[in-house]
Amino acid sequence: SKKRDGKNGALLYHPMMQDHTRQRAAIERDIESALEEDWFEAYFQPIVDLEGGRVAGYEALLRLEHPTKGTLAPSDIIKIAEETGAIIRVGNRVLEKALANLVELSEATGDKDAYIAINFSPLQFEHTLPIRLAALTSRYGIAPHRLVVEITEATLLHDNPQIRTILDEFHRFGCRIALDDFGTGYSSLSYLNRFPVDIVKIDQSFIRSLSAEEPELRHKSRMLVEGITAISHKMECSVVAEGVETEEQRDILRQFGVDRGQGYLFARPQPIRQLMKTLEKSHQPGSSVA
Ligand code: C2E
Ligand code: MG
Ligand code: MG
Ligand code: MG
Repeated sequence: SKKRDGKNGALLYHPMMQDHTRQRAAIERDIESALEEDWFEAYFQPIVDLEGGRVAGYEALLRLEHPTKGTLAPSDIIKIAEETGAIIRVGNRVLEKALANLVELSEATGDKDAYIAINFSPLQFEHTLPIRLAALTSRYGIAPHRLVVEITEATLLHDNPQIRTILDEFHRFGCRIALDDFGTGYSSLSYLNRFPVDIVKIDQSFIRSLSAEEPELRHKSRMLVEGITAISHKMECSVVAEGVETEEQRDILRQFGVDRGQGYLFARPQPIRQLMKTLEKSHQPGSSVA
């Protein structure tokens, strides 16, 4: 965005700003091209039962496969897409890719129960969202209970009654709702009693500190993760730990009764073709990776 400043409303550019403006414009163009040329992909990352190691589901994570720039991550794209409003079309595209991928993956693994968790931006919560989701899952032959809608505190922040209505509709329809990045930002316990949440995803910053060098931090994080898990279970939510990278972390989480884990220890987010090979290579039959 250009800054009108100085006399006569002349446009004054700071060299840094010019750079930033140019980069931003390039990403805006990339997003439009990606929609037109079909460069968006939904990478899948397994979500694993900590007891037994079975793959319970997958999180769909947006990637832009740029023909010359390589693979762009959500951090490069989401914020700008939200600001321009393109996030609605981007979100719809990811949704379609994710459902199509799930069908393909289920056929390959024989697992017709695995769920798909999809991230939604606050802007996507228009009143038509539930009915569009219902139509899409039915088109792909996916049972509604296999769909998990991931939201962050940003969606719940203003206690908007329309958001509540939409979340209730998801529930009536059979989908589950996951509260992402739990424990960070403004994400507060009160969301657990004001909104119909089914799954709590503990933010990866807590998981990282479980094995921190500093004993004090390590101890406190462990108490926090154990406490969040106990509270979530009392609220009848299941618990997923994000960013599980080591066996030590996995063992601690299991000991605390955390239901599921997601992280590089199990698998990175990847295109489903690659994931199918990873799953084939794992020792246990079916779709077990841990
Ligand atoms: P998120 O929903 O919390 O997703 C988890 C992020 O942690 C992903 O980053 C994933 O690649 C990363 N991750 C998974 N395991 C590990 C691990 O063991 N260690 C570390 N360090 N990181 C791990 P990613 O794919 O870059 O996505 C970042 C964020 O972008 C997501 O955070 C989500 O908020 C947003 N996002 C991704 N896809 C979409 C989308 O389709 N729509 C919207 N609205 N947002 C999306
Ligand atoms: Mg997420
Ligand atoms: Mg998260
Ligand atoms: Mg996050």
